[in-house]
Amino acid sequence: MKIKIAKYSGFCFGVKRAVKTVFDNLNKNICLFGAIVNNKYLLNDLKKSSVFVETNLDKIDKNKIVIIRAHGVGPNIYDKIKLLDLDFIDCTCPFVKKIQRIVKKNFDSKNKIIIVGNQNHPEIIGINAYANNSCFIIKNIKEAFIFANRIQDCDIQIKNKLEKYICVSQTTFDFKEFSKIKKILENKLNLNLKIYDTICDTTYKRQVEADELSSNYNIVLVIGDETSSNTKKLFDICKKNNKNTFLIEDLADMYKINIDLKNKSIAIIASASTPKYLIEKVNKELEIKYNN
Ligand code: SF4
Repeated sequence: MKIKIAKYSGFCFGVKRAVKTVFDNLNKNICLFGAIVNNKYLLNDLKKSSVFVETNLDKIDKNKIVIIRAHGVGPNIYDKIKLLDLDFIDCTCPFVKKIQRIVKKNFDSKNKIIIVGNQNHPEIIGINAYANNSCFIIKNIKEAFIFANRIQDCDIQIKNKLEKYICVSQTTFDFKEFSKIKKILENKLNLNLKIYDTICDTTYKRQVEADELSSNYNIVLVIGDETSSNTKKLFDICKKNNKNTFLIEDLADMYKINIDLKNKSIAIIASASTPKYLIEKVNKELEIKYNN
């Protein structure tokens, strides 16, 4: 049996930083404004230390310190925190902050803003709030076509180059799909469009590696929570190349896989929100069970 753990596995820079902040402040009566990572094992560990997730600021006690997660929040949330006179620690990932700044600046300049991503994802909800929720949000190639055709047909100002559009993407968006969407928008919106490549570096590297490993190994185990956006993206990339790709949250899921793992080459890929110990647990079990 050959086992390969992807080089870019487990917590990314932004998540590592946010999780470290939480653990460094465990003795300070903290409260998580939204899940710090989309991983139930880590959240359960935090619950044991009496750190809970709250999504409604009104329900947070005055003596708590609010932790803003790596996905970031909109200006409305900072205003509300101030209004409620709550202390907070901001763990917004700098890559997300950069997108927020781009969006705010362009909104202030009256440019129209396109976000490529999932409109229900907290990162996108936060970014959109910097443009007073006025962004056009496109989640896939099909929507990009519909959007570009609609704008081109109805927007006479575009033809006269009077209106300027800018486009950013969710930091964890599929980079291949984003390239296709960029081309669709560029073809239709021509010179009136400026595109910012805002998929973060670690996401890009993980996706490239997932693409390569899933093409070269018999079986791919993607470890991560099914609620995590970047887990899902990695799973989708691998599944396209390799039908023997499985999403597992923990060891128990590995044993549900209806395939003989013996004498197979296995790639282990883990999302940016998967704790290291889960990766090691799966790897160790595979080594013990199948490598003797
Ligand atoms: S995936 Fe990228 S943008 Fe998101 S938290 Fe991690 S490093 Fe930051």
